[in-house]
Amino acid sequence: MEVRRSARRRRTVSAYREGDRTVVLIPARMSEAEEKRWVNVMLDKLAAQESKRVLGDAELAERAERLSEQCFEGRARPTSVRWVTNQNTRWGSCTPSEGSIRLSHRLQGMPEYVVDYVLVHELAHLLVPGHGPRFWRLLEAYPRTERARGYLEGVVAADRLPHLPAAREE
Ligand SMILES: [Zn+2]
Repeated sequence: MEVRRSARRRRTVSAYREGDRTVVLIPARMSEAEEKRWVNVMLDKLAAQESKRVLGDAELAERAERLSEQCFEGRARPTSVRWVTNQNTRWGSCTPSEGSIRLSHRLQGMPEYVVDYVLVHELAHLLVPGHGPRFWRLLEAYPRTERARGYLEGVVAADRLPHLPAAREE
């Protein structure tokens, strides 16, 4: 992995593979902390692009079941888990009274651990509504919660930057 700083770049970050190497291009004035954060976001983006496989609803339900076993001893039991395309401001939602979970299609193509995090999050809501301390304590059962939340925050931040190209070949 190689990070190249460019004085010409003002706000854009991009990444591409060059043989065995991954090159991340960042603006010269970016801080170390920002660099670290963006490198992670871009590496995840590249990985996601390279594994474009989309889970079907049946696989999604299976996955939710497995995660419920792993994290909540199987106590969260959704009646349905499916993708929806009408959800652009939330990554996932659930209706505890019905036991249904819906994931935004915008998650498709993101790393598996991110999709799993959103599933675990919605599964946890079947057990605890709202985002109080009890809820986040439940989420500690999923080891990549912090990383996944960081990834999703990065995606939201990237959407807001003008002219930010998607990871691409240059
Ligand atoms: Zn929530």
